[in-house]
This record gives sequence, structure tokens and C-alpha cells, in this order.
Amino acid sequence: MNPEKPRFIMCVCTGKCPGFAKMDIWDFINTVRMTLPVNHAVIHPQLCEQDGDRYLEDTLRPEQKVIVAGCAPAMQVKLFRDAFQRKGMDVKRDLVPIDIRDMTTEQALEKVKAELKRLGYDVE
Ligand code: SF4
Repeated sequence: MNPEKPRFIMCVCTGKCPGFAKMDIWDFINTVRMTLPVNHAVIHPQLCEQDGDRYLEDTLRPEQKVIVAGCAPAMQVKLFRDAFQRKGMDVKRDLVPIDIRDMTTEQALEKVKAELKRLGYDVE
């Protein structure tokens, strides 16, 4: 069991990406923050832009994993590597990337739950 609950960031790709059209992003993020074992959950509009980098650098903490629900894991690793590195973190160890594109709210929630279980958290 990990001692500290992870932070949860949903990246919605500006909010215009058709990959998120099937889900209700507010139902999704509210369910994550209210019912799942995360420290807190927020939505960022475009985490791979410069302000996203600044946001990560302002908020990353080496002792806390970060779940990012958004685009493909391989893409996230590339996009966020530098920000994690600048905070003395290893993106492959400290980032938990989840691809939730083209899913319904329920499908995305199931995927997040499965990932939290894999990390060792109790999820109903
Ligand atoms: S990090 Fe991924 S989901 Fe977020 S804006 Fe960039 S490409 Fe889109």
C-alpha cells in the first residue's frame, strides 16, 4: 500500500478534442475526487503546453505519484518528462498515465479504478 494518495489530473486536450465527446467530464472528475482514493482531482485544459509545464513544476512533489488521465501513455511520458526531471522525479516511476479517450464516463472510471487497484489502493 502506498503511503500517500496520488494526485489526479484529467487533461481534456483544450476541451475541443472529439476523444472526450462521449463522456461527461464533470461527472467523471467529481466521481474521482469524491469516491476514489486520490489526494485531489483537477481538470487541466492542456497540460502539454507551456503553462501546463509550469503547473506541473509548481505542484509536483517527489513523494507523490501523479495520475494523468488523458492521451496515450507513451505520449504523456514524452510530453511530461522534462517537467518531472526538473523536479528531481522520474516520469516512468512517478507518473501514472491513463488513456481515457473515446470512452464513456463509466468506462473511464472503470479504467481509473483498475489502475488504482494495481497501485495497491482499496477501491470498491
Ligand atoms: S497532454 Fe495529451 S491530452 Fe493533454 S493536451 Fe496534450 S496531447 Fe492533449
